[in-house]
Amino acid sequence: MRIVLRGRPDYQVDVISTEEAEALRSWYVHSSSSEQDAIALAVIRQAKLCDGWIECDCIGGAHKPLLAPQQQERTFTLRRLSPADGDPHTRIDRPNHADDCPFHVDRAFDPAAHDRAFNLRPVPHRETAYVDALPAIPTQLADPDRNPPDPDHERNDRPSRLAIVLWRLMDSAGINILKPLQEGPSQYQLKSQLAALRHAGARMRVTRTWRFGALSTTWPGDYGDKNSRFQRLLRKSRPDWAPNQRRTGFMILFSTSVTQKAIHPAATSAPIEVLSRVRQPLRRDPRHRGPYLVIANADFGDDDDGDLRAVQAYAQPVFNGETLFPVESGFERDLTNLLIWLQTSLFDAAPRLRITIRKPLFAIATPKGLCRPDFVLETVFANHPPVHLVIEAMGMDTEQYRAAKARKSPRMKEIGPTYEIHPADIRPANAQALGEDLQRWVLAHAARRRLRFVNG
Ligand SMILES: [Zn+2]
Repeated sequence: MRIVLRGRPDYQVDVISTEEAEALRSWYVHSSSSEQDAIALAVIRQAKLCDGWIECDCIGGAHKPLLAPQQQERTFTLRRLSPADGDPHTRIDRPNHADDCPFHVDRAFDPAAHDRAFNLRPVPHRETAYVDALPAIPTQLADPDRNPPDPDHERNDRPSRLAIVLWRLMDSAGINILKPLQEGPSQYQLKSQLAALRHAGARMRVTRTWRFGALSTTWPGDYGDKNSRFQRLLRKSRPDWAPNQRRTGFMILFSTSVTQKAIHPAATSAPIEVLSRVRQPLRRDPRHRGPYLVIANADFGDDDDGDLRAVQAYAQPVFNGETLFPVESGFERDLTNLLIWLQTSLFDAAPRLRITIRKPLFAIATPKGLCRPDFVLETVFANHPPVHLVIEAMGMDTEQYRAAKARKSPRMKEIGPTYEIHPADIRPANAQALGEDLQRWVLAHAARRRLRFVNG
């Protein structure tokens, strides 16, 4: 066996000894000693580190079966790049392993009982001011029987820890709120929004003695600048980290685009390569995804003594380059536009009606359970109590999606009356009718509460 370059299996990167190959096979069939586990782990880590695949030598011929190293948090495993027997999409350059090779079949991984519900989000951690740092350098192999890796893990909507850090910051900085126009909010600006995020970061902690604010930056140039305050402080923090943590710095970067492996910050021309896949919310709406507010964590390499290295990243789509209001798709960006129009038009028509537009980043607890509406309008007429109205973006048209939305619907209604908008509603031909209907709906609900209030 040998390690070859990912995507270019004719190019050899490293060799794998007979002993190492034996360790890999034994681990795969779950008959390895702990010594062999350590050897297998080292090989898989090495393959991952040099961006390689593992080529199996169980068959002859020009094309050999391939295995891709996978890393999920602290756990490494291998994924077969061979089609299953009888797969109609079999490729000539992706042969399966020999019948008697342990890698011939996938392990019978039972998919983890995963809540694939859309809008799955935790409730915010109010009780802690701490931010998760990176765990110590990975030191374990996946146990295929007890701890099956979920191949969808990086693709589904389950938030990464890093995403949660970003949402906490945005929530705390009020970036997910568009204030009523009566408060005369100043024009949104990237500069002041980033400052609000830094301010929020100053209240959060990474270690007992170090604040998030000191170990983070919003300036992409700091990534390559060893003498930046960000890198100097991160170096200085060395003695203050617990053994189960990796020295971790955080970058919050406004970025025009991302790829699976790199971030393209708006302020610099050099992209920042990320060690693992850049994650973002899953929506079947890949067009017009960016711009993004990206959070990345960084360390000083496996030996904690090298150059700064971006390890993980999460890209949150945002409204535009001035307003970092979070959205999850191009469709939600269009709806944000519509809600801003609604806010402006009703400010003119009903100046005493204050409308706040809120994008909940965390689940809201209702008597019927947790839910996370796409948007919540808080309307306050004069000095009456607020009325909450839920706007739901029905962005996808799959049964699973509708079922998930339907399950959440009674919970949404606990928050307030709900208005559903489908992509067809905002087509040019329908947009005006939608806008007028939405105005009527908001006014009717705001007024109904007012009448009830007046009548006692
Ligand atoms: Zn094989």
